[in-house]
Amino acid sequence: MMDMQKKIDDISLLGGHPALDFVNTVDSRGGRWGPDFLNSYDDLVAWACRLDVIDDKERDVLLVTANSSGPDAEKELGQAKDLREALYRLFLSEFGESQIGPNDLELVADMARRGLSQQTLGQVGGTIEWRRSEAKGLDAISNRIAVLAAQLLTSRAERRPVRACQGRNCGWLFLDQSRGGHRRWCSDKTCGSNARVRKFRLRSS
Ligand SMILES: [Zn+2]
Repeated sequence: MMDMQKKIDDISLLGGHPALDFVNTVDSRGGRWGPDFLNSYDDLVAWACRLDVIDDKERDVLLVTANSSGPDAEKELGQAKDLREALYRLFLSEFGESQIGPNDLELVADMARRGLSQQTLGQVGGTIEWRRSEAKGLDAISNRIAVLAAQLLTSRAERRPVRACQGRNCGWLFLDQSRGGHRRWCSDKTCGSNARVRKFRLRSS
């Protein structure tokens, strides 16, 4: 839904997975493109904290680092957006069952490898699992998103499909967890109800 006043903290989280919510930080991918809610590295940090990609302590560290290295933060924001657009194309290929771009896969793999190299094995309760070591570098957010995205991309056989919203001027991606598996809208309240209103107007005109 078009709303110029909306900020990164206000955007709806409808993707059902952080990698898809990351793709959905562009308001519309339909007839028009944008607006883009990632307008600064600080926006990326705020988003990552909201989605638990980083914790509060890491947020503070990254904000200090970013503010003392302006051009680097700007560059890293660009890298994050490259990842975002690659993920959009990859998941759209899954949705449309079309050919996947090798460059997009390579970009995700490179970042995911860096993300994995920042993890350690640790014991939590009775189980052993991968744990993130403290995020310090500005690229930590992109790398963590890439790890999550790679897990989602490679788990197609065990999960519901990724779909693109059919709403006019939307195109948001989401994991279809609906009972019937035929969800068409990112949200029934926005895109779904807009479509119903349009259909009604068409019928009664
Ligand atoms: Zn939608």
